[in-house]
Amino acid sequence: MRTVTCSCNASFSAELPDSIDLDASPEYLEHLSAGSFMSVACPTCGRKLKPEFLLNVVWPSKSAALIAVPELDRPNLAETVGEEKDASVVVGYPELAERIAVLDAGLDPTAIEILKYYLLLKAAEADPNAEASAWFFAYENDAIVFHLHGLRPGEVAISKIPRSLYERTLGESKSRPDEEPFRSIRSGNYISVRNLFKTED
Ligand SMILES: [Zn+2]
Repeated sequence: MRTVTCSCNASFSAELPDSIDLDASPEYLEHLSAGSFMSVACPTCGRKLKPEFLLNVVWPSKSAALIAVPELDRPNLAETVGEEKDASVVVGYPELAERIAVLDAGLDPTAIEILKYYLLLKAAEADPNAEASAWFFAYENDAIVFHLHGLRPGEVAISKIPRSLYERTLGESKSRPDEEPFRSIRSGNYISVRNLFKTED
């Protein structure tokens, strides 16, 4: 049980797990892709809440172990994660949902984050003032589909990267892990394009 506090000031207990196994409870996969993951309704005002808690996620069939750190704890990432050595870190449930989708598509998270870096560099060239973010959306027709937010208010731009460029990026990330941008895409167990755009945090 977790204690949730609503913006109406009501506090209530909710049946939210602190660890989940996606093989044992595959319904969470649907909740993640539908954006309804771990959401609860406030019993007082009925508002739908998405409280974030530190959450351990294992997915044995994909050999994956993740720690989802609440977005609020992003500034203290290292302290929040602590001594954990094996699990990959994601921050916030949107990043968790994205990472699960990447793993589900059989893609490599490092290569995906590097491709996002290239897309955001291009976006910054086109408009230095845009605060863009890139999200893996799907793998379809031999292309990696990304959604770019923040280029134009209220609009989502779609960008498709061919599988061949993904493969090349994956190869480079493995053969030159100590060169940029491959080196700085990782900070501890947190692999994210955000590590290359630190000032955005
Ligand atoms: Zn409420």
